[in-house]
Amino acid sequence: MTTMTQQDITEELQAGRPTGPLVQGYEVIIGFETHAQLSTASKIFSRASTAFGAEPNTQACPVDLALPGTLPVMNKGAVERAIKLGLALGSTIAPRSVFARKNYFYPDLPKGYQISQFEIPVVQGGSVSFFVGDEPKTVRLVRAHLEEDAGKSLHEDFVGQSGIDLNRAGTPLLEIVTEPDMRSTAEAVAYARELHKIVTWIGICDGNMQEGSFRCDANVSVRKPGAKLGTRREIKNLNSFKFMQQAIDYEIRWQIEEIEDGRKIQQATVLFDPDTGETRAMRTKEDAADYRYFPDPDLPPLVIAADWIERVRGEMPELPRAMAERYEREHGLSAYDAAQLTQGPALAHYFQSAVAAGANAKLAANWITGEIARRLNQQDIGIDQAPVGAAQMAKLVGRISDGTISNNAARQVFDALWTGEAAEVDAVIEAKGLKQMSDSGALEKIIDGVLATNQKNIDEYRAGKDKAFNALVGQVMKASQGKANPAQVNALLKSKLG
Ligand code: ADP
Ligand code: MG
Repeated sequence: MTTMTQQDITEELQAGRPTGPLVQGYEVIIGFETHAQLSTASKIFSRASTAFGAEPNTQACPVDLALPGTLPVMNKGAVERAIKLGLALGSTIAPRSVFARKNYFYPDLPKGYQISQFEIPVVQGGSVSFFVGDEPKTVRLVRAHLEEDAGKSLHEDFVGQSGIDLNRAGTPLLEIVTEPDMRSTAEAVAYARELHKIVTWIGICDGNMQEGSFRCDANVSVRKPGAKLGTRREIKNLNSFKFMQQAIDYEIRWQIEEIEDGRKIQQATVLFDPDTGETRAMRTKEDAADYRYFPDPDLPPLVIAADWIERVRGEMPELPRAMAERYEREHGLSAYDAAQLTQGPALAHYFQSAVAAGANAKLAANWITGEIARRLNQQDIGIDQAPVGAAQMAKLVGRISDGTISNNAARQVFDALWTGEAAEVDAVIEAKGLKQMSDSGALEKIIDGVLATNQKNIDEYRAGKDKAFNALVGQVMKASQGKANPAQVNALLKSKLG
């Protein structure tokens, strides 16, 4: 595939040439706005706790309640997390950015405005690169800005009235905005997964989607190839990858149907209802002008000195893509295996621990991305809960490498360890008698026995039939109760048959 430069993508977009697959003759255009809740202990402009799940209104201090006379004070930890994201995504960190008031009325917003960044955001530009299947894809970022979250209206627990919980008011958010660079639902979901991986990897967000720590707004429009950009609708607050996929798929079909029926798409904010699988208009969309943005006089510009950025750079962990490339280089892993192993820091750490304990890297990678991944998936647990630790994994791989056990026997050992039947590799091999036959004298005896009773196979082999050879190997393996080393059996048989 030819990689498009940023310039190319924008030109293609303006020229109206399709850059992705068509759906019923329409090109799909998607841009994302993601709210990542930053993992600071206290709020963005106050000292109240950000811990999830507290009793309503127990974590809202006078600043969060907008009591008269209170003033916001910037949380340094929130800024540092914004810097980390910028460094991870190759963005520019603005040396000076400005907080602005976004004015609107809503019961969960006591100040009557949200403190956000408008004209000069802290993080500018950058990109996210990932794979959609085997296709590389790059999505450009417009910006990422710091802002505060609002409170929550509670309707469920009350009859005929609503409650307001201001615990969430003032929670630090980083809103990450992309260019409209995605061309399909698959690309959109892959982008969201990659961004989720990065923010959790660099530790700026806990990534808990159920609790709302990572929520995505998908802007979707469709157009006939060659037409000008279509009107977008924004699907708000997608908080699971599954719903994201369903919502965008539905929205694309809905928009195409509207246009085919001769109606015009109205710019709107819509919500996805997981029960019906449909998106529904919530309100027509405000324009920026409606918010009467202006610089917040209570906060000085945010100034980030170059040495602060360098200090943060020095603390950055190796990023997943760099780590995957290193695995390919250092351990000769395939790009696919390397990508699998760098899905999360815990998995990568597990792999590295196994290799550090002496495991052959390729074998370890096969087991981790195969058998272990399958079981983790089945039981819906993470690698940190795996009953087989990296040390035992390394031991198991080592016993395959040194010829003590066959792959089949290894699977039995693994199963015994995983189910808790036993705790130690060598003990299982001993108890179950899984050792491969390494004594070539004993093996030769078995082979001689098999050859003595299978003249037909010998004749066929000598007549050039490979199948007959395999049959002989099978006979020997059977006679050894699976304990013969297949490679050794092959070699001995060949030499005996001449
Ligand atoms: P706002 O801040 O009012 O929501 P922006 O212009 O900042 O509007 O864009 C928000 C998001 O919508 C961005 O991710 C952008 O890439 C995306 N977007 C803009 N135009 C379109 C379009 N025609 N189709 C799909 N997405 C779009
Ligand atoms: Mg927006």
